[in-house]
Amino acid sequence: MILIDGKKEAAELRGKLKKEVLALKEKYNKVPGLTVILIGDMTPSQIYVRNKEKSANEIGLNSEVIRYPETVDEKTVLQKINELNNDDSVSGILVQLPLPKHINKQKVIESISHEKDVDGLHPMNVGNLSSGYQGSIPCTPLGCYLLIKKIEPNLTGKKAVMIGRSNLNGKAMAQLLLQEDCTVTITHSKTKDLKSECLAADVIVAAVGIKQLVKGDWVKKDAIVIDVGINKTDKGIVGDVAFDEVSKVAKALTPVPGGVGPMTIACLLKNTIECFKRKMN
Ligand code: NAP
Repeated sequence: MILIDGKKEAAELRGKLKKEVLALKEKYNKVPGLTVILIGDMTPSQIYVRNKEKSANEIGLNSEVIRYPETVDEKTVLQKINELNNDDSVSGILVQLPLPKHINKQKVIESISHEKDVDGLHPMNVGNLSSGYQGSIPCTPLGCYLLIKKIEPNLTGKKAVMIGRSNLNGKAMAQLLLQEDCTVTITHSKTKDLKSECLAADVIVAAVGIKQLVKGDWVKKDAIVIDVGINKTDKGIVGDVAFDEVSKVAKALTPVPGGVGPMTIACLLKNTIECFKRKMN
């Protein structure tokens, strides 16, 4: 079984991106900039944002974090986004989710210029992805896609099963694998026989948020299994896949932690650079 080392793959990708930033600096005499808006003091969000800022700085991007208290009103946030949309030094804007209840998530997502939407959640980018046009691709599915391609460069005709249908994960992942000529099934909480769906799959991507949902006897021998889930337990973070069981049958599997998570951040940096390049061209 191949244990997919997300930390190593992400470090490799960051190395390539760092070189790319240097080359862009030489060519344009400026570097891409990433601005993250963080609202409230939720610990996981604070940690994610700190990691994003650190990684951005490491590869030479300009990076800024704008922090607001939990009580900030929607108008202030939308005004700031508008300001950033018009700021030439900002290539990418990310508003860290989840947002406090009084702030309309959809309104915030749609207020970010689709050209600076590094999360790939703006309807224009969702449409671009499903039409096969250029645009930002959500960071987590993009990271999963790169990991899968490393294991299996030719995915033509493979059967891929997404577990979960969120815009952030399952739906975008399905589009990426469809573009690779996979036959894609998207499952969700109302799917009748999830085990049978999984057993038919050459590639499984689990993005649910239920610990150890995917059991060893749900997985076909030699399947590639990507575990996106992050579930807190007394023993630490675990994924949506029963790692000990599935590792006995799968061809390749991502661990949690150390699998998809590091790739998500590296792909955020990649998206920021892509936004910069599209603007300069
Ligand atoms: P989400 O928006 O809550 O979506 C979860 C999906 O799982 C929904 O489509 C839901 O179906 C489906 N689901 C729920 N119970 C199910 C069941 N018993 N069988 C099959 N499907 C079921 O979650 P998300 O934002 O996509 O995140 C999913 C997980 O990934 C979470 O653990 C999250 O923390 C993690 N995550 C990790 C990263 C990373 O970088 N590693 C990034 C983002 C998210 P319905 O649509 O029918 O409700």
